[in-house]
Amino acid sequence: MRVVTGPTDRVVVVGAGLGGLACALHLAAAGRQVTVVEREPIPGGRAGRLSVGGYEFDTGPTVLTMPELIAEPLAAVGEKLEDWLELRPLDPAYRAYYPDGSTLDIRTDTTRMAAEIARVCGAREADGYLRFVDYTRRLWQLERDDFIDKNLDTPLDLVNVGLLKLLGMGAFRRMQPKIEQFFRDPRTQRIFSFQAMYAGLAPHDALAIYAVIAYLDSVAGVYFPVGGMHAVPKAMAAVAEKHGVTIRYDTTVERVLTTNGRATGVVTAGGDHIPADVVVLNPDLPIAYRDLLPGKRRRPLRYSPSCVVLHIGSDRAYSKIAHHNIHFGKAWKGTFDEVINKGLLMSDPSLLVTNPTHTDPAYAPEGKQTYYVLAPAPNLEAGPMDWRGGLDKRYADEILRVLEQRGYIGFRDGVEVQRIVTPADWADEGMAAGTPFAAAHTFAQTGPFRPSNMHPTLPNVVFTGSGTQPGVGVPMVLISGKLAAARVTGGAR
Ligand SMILES: Cc1cc2nc3c(=O)[nH]c(=O)nc-3n(C[C@H](O)[C@H](O)[C@H](O)COP(=O)(O)OP(=O)(O)OC[C@H]3O[C@@H](n4cnc5c(N)ncnc54)[C@H](O)[C@@H]3O)c2cc1C
Repeated sequence: MRVVTGPTDRVVVVGAGLGGLACALHLAAAGRQVTVVEREPIPGGRAGRLSVGGYEFDTGPTVLTMPELIAEPLAAVGEKLEDWLELRPLDPAYRAYYPDGSTLDIRTDTTRMAAEIARVCGAREADGYLRFVDYTRRLWQLERDDFIDKNLDTPLDLVNVGLLKLLGMGAFRRMQPKIEQFFRDPRTQRIFSFQAMYAGLAPHDALAIYAVIAYLDSVAGVYFPVGGMHAVPKAMAAVAEKHGVTIRYDTTVERVLTTNGRATGVVTAGGDHIPADVVVLNPDLPIAYRDLLPGKRRRPLRYSPSCVVLHIGSDRAYSKIAHHNIHFGKAWKGTFDEVINKGLLMSDPSLLVTNPTHTDPAYAPEGKQTYYVLAPAPNLEAGPMDWRGGLDKRYADEILRVLEQRGYIGFRDGVEVQRIVTPADWADEGMAAGTPFAAAHTFAQTGPFRPSNMHPTLPNVVFTGSGTQPGVGVPMVLISGKLAAARVTGGAR
């Protein structure tokens, strides 16, 4: 494994996103002197916070899986997750709504889930589900240790017994035919394959290895932290500070300083020089190369689709919905095609509606509700759009109209506060191609083929976050922090 050469005592981590914070905790645990430099006044990056008129909104992730990966960096400095965060398991993890009017509750408990599938789709489908759970559980066990939770320098690092087993399981073939081996009903096919979108691809294009996302989501369990998702980075930052990490908020790094082919520190927008033996970069990787580092990164990347998020504070409650609700449109393959290949907005939208006040009423003024509506949308490379020329408001209206049609009666009249976040906003926040979901997980951008977490020529510059290995999403980014720290300390990863 490549590691940082030379001294590694003083580390500057640029960015207090989940990747940067996980890395800082592992480095502090290994006795490094760590300074985190964060542009915003709060930690969390994409897992941020928006407060409007007494309503509190999580700005990014809402579906928390694998909390043991939050426990890991905390345990590295001797802290227990339960002393810092209260996590509530969500039951159901999701409620799916189909265009024929049927609904399916996604339960983490396999026996109850099989019963739910049998109720909605019949006994044979429930059988397929149990085989699917078995398959994806084995996939996860194989992928986790040998491919995800490991620094990979070359494709040769992939060659091991696990690879042969994965090949034998058809994990490198397409996801959609694999899903069809387990499920016949289009409703179960959708609920166990839409997660390919998290990897930036349609189920027809994604590799079957990404069926593990459905496993993590719907079998391993979905949690909600009391105080919202932003409570996670807040807790991690507090633990880091308790264990000696210095966090400088409201401080933008302008560039990494280099001398004789090594980084020597960073310079801030205020003109401060912060010296370092090692610099870890948590901003979106292509933007870090473009804005903070000398030279150019040549290899072009294919980006994941983006999304529009509508935050609503409302006086309306809907007793039939769950915490997370997925409303599928009639269209399926065509929807992925519109968003990913044609660069168009969905003509028959599938939407995620999260209702955090369902679980934690403290999110809103008494008796009020918060809603977070996520609509997949093209990134700015696939579909450049004039979001600022009125499209943002028109699209927010369109989403409200669709939600009213799908059973949220009076939704528009109940709106007390509303904010819309579009790909143009993600771009302004420093995300390449206006997507918060980084480079897509195509085969050519996965594992050792994904941008490395070590700079090719500066031996003491390391990357963490969703743009590097292993990839996108809270669990992967937390692992990326550990992998980055291992590059610095020479630890086993
Ligand atoms: C709308 C949305 C929904 C999502 N839903 C889910 C979900 O349900 N489940 C899930 O697991 N994942 C989800 N994700 C993905 C997940 O949130 C991200 O993969 C993850 O949070 C990215 O973390 P990061 O550490 O890579 O980057 P970031 O969170 O972007 O952290 C980078 C940090 O660097 C700082 N920074 C940038 N430039 C500078 C600079 N020059 N100087 C100083 N600081 C700088 C930024 O302010 C930021 O704090 C979602 C993301 C979004 C946006």
